[in-house]
Amino acid sequence: MSFELKEKDLLGRIGKLKTKTGVLETPLLFPVINPSVQLVPPKRLKEEFGFEAVITNAYILKKRYQDKPVATGLHNFFNFDGPIMTDSGAYQILVYGNVEVSQAEIVKYQEQIGSDIATILDIPTGWRVTSEEAEKTVSETLKRAKAFFKTKTREDILWVGPIQGGRHLELVKKSALDMRKLPFQIHALGSPTEVMENYRYDVLVDMIATAKMNLPVERPLHLFGAGHPAMFALAVALGCDLFDSAAYALYAREGRYMTENGTWRLSELDYLPCQCPKCTSTSPKAVLEMTQNESELFLAEHNLYVCAAELRRIKQAIRDGRLWEHVEMRTHSHPELLNALKTFKNYEDFMEEYSPTVKKSGFFFYDSIGLARPEVVRFRNRLTRRYTPPKDVTILLLCPQTRKKPFHKSHEISKIRHILRHLDEKLSDRVHMCFYAAPFGLIPQELDEVYPLSQHETSQPLDQETRDYVANQVADYIERTQYSTVMLINDQSRWLNRVKESCRKACRKKGIIFECIEAGGSKDILIRLEILLKKHTSEKL
Ligand SMILES: [Zn+2]
Repeated sequence: MSFELKEKDLLGRIGKLKTKTGVLETPLLFPVINPSVQLVPPKRLKEEFGFEAVITNAYILKKRYQDKPVATGLHNFFNFDGPIMTDSGAYQILVYGNVEVSQAEIVKYQEQIGSDIATILDIPTGWRVTSEEAEKTVSETLKRAKAFFKTKTREDILWVGPIQGGRHLELVKKSALDMRKLPFQIHALGSPTEVMENYRYDVLVDMIATAKMNLPVERPLHLFGAGHPAMFALAVALGCDLFDSAAYALYAREGRYMTENGTWRLSELDYLPCQCPKCTSTSPKAVLEMTQNESELFLAEHNLYVCAAELRRIKQAIRDGRLWEHVEMRTHSHPELLNALKTFKNYEDFMEEYSPTVKKSGFFFYDSIGLARPEVVRFRNRLTRRYTPPKDVTILLLCPQTRKKPFHKSHEISKIRHILRHLDEKLSDRVHMCFYAAPFGLIPQELDEVYPLSQHETSQPLDQETRDYVANQVADYIERTQYSTVMLINDQSRWLNRVKESCRKACRKKGIIFECIEAGGSKDILIRLEILLKKHTSEKL
């Protein structure tokens, strides 16, 4: 196995990718090296910026330099001792319509120059294409992939099997299902660049998720041409391990300044919002007064620092089990990114399946977007599919969440537990205490210390969708269980009325008794509760 997983969170992971030149830690960004004009030499990319590997274009290399890189070897040619990935010219097909090289030639060339990771000559789908046109790119790419395994001669190169189909998701699925049967070590998702240029990050989520669900999880996934730090977190959360960026240099040429929250024109900036060594020693005005070459270099270097820093933050977030929070933070920098995060909901079960069950820290719940988190989805699924209430209970006592967690140890709940303890034992055994709480919905008391039911912080007041979610979870629970009485303690926070109405409806539907205990002070609640408990428990004896 060339790829080994170390840590994971959501579908994101920290992994080790073994190449013939060295081991790489993922998620990883390959800066694109232009063989003709390279602003920042590859050696500096590694030593100063920490990029362990680079990518270059084998097609351009062959066209301009022919046998020279074959004679020197790729690593000497670029004076770079880290792993080098090569792309095959597919991007040139997308831009220029065709390339003057055959698949067999470009495969042979990549073997001759000694690429560490190499790519077959796939046909990119692009953005504005019909389903028929897209289908052709998928089938031609598959045909070439099959032919490739008959011609390859070296075993020490990691080969990339590209997935095409563009925004036609049924074709992305077909492409992934066909390509997974072939022994590629890495897969790549083609043509996201145009999707991103159109700001359709929601479509990008669909494309990545579709590819990911239909590929072997243990193979790393490269997202071709995705080199902006604002979307790394989103893509990593969906299971992308590898990225390449020509953007750092292309943006620099156009005077564009990348940040993890979006792009600025240097000419629009009064301050440089960055702590990199370039930005802390100058001002936008001073950079604008530089020569074109100098300011381009400044921007390229800054852009590289920003990309590297963001990947480090993402890796730390994976280790800390806080990738979701990180993605939420990043996607709030642009409405289209947030749309993309909202699309995660469509893949919540898939994401839940691969996300770790226990983490070393709790999580933060901000609003209803967080309802698609694996922790919330997992609890809901387990409560629905596996949970049965304790034997012999007949009364469901629903208590509101408290500030203190676990809830059953809070001051408010201790008083209720005190009443239950002083009931006749036969009576108290019939009462099952549960909590209604955001974001989990309904939590049986005996589970409230299980991770992560007490290990989270929730922002209050809750938004409407979260209130609805909690209310629906409680109602669903009542409908699928067999209590004869439901007693709801309503502490009169406004959102709880929503829960009350749902409970009332669910009880009516089941034909069981519903009591809502609400009163001015907590003392009244306790008195009412005691009376009602005695009434309903003795009735059933
Ligand atoms: Zn900077």
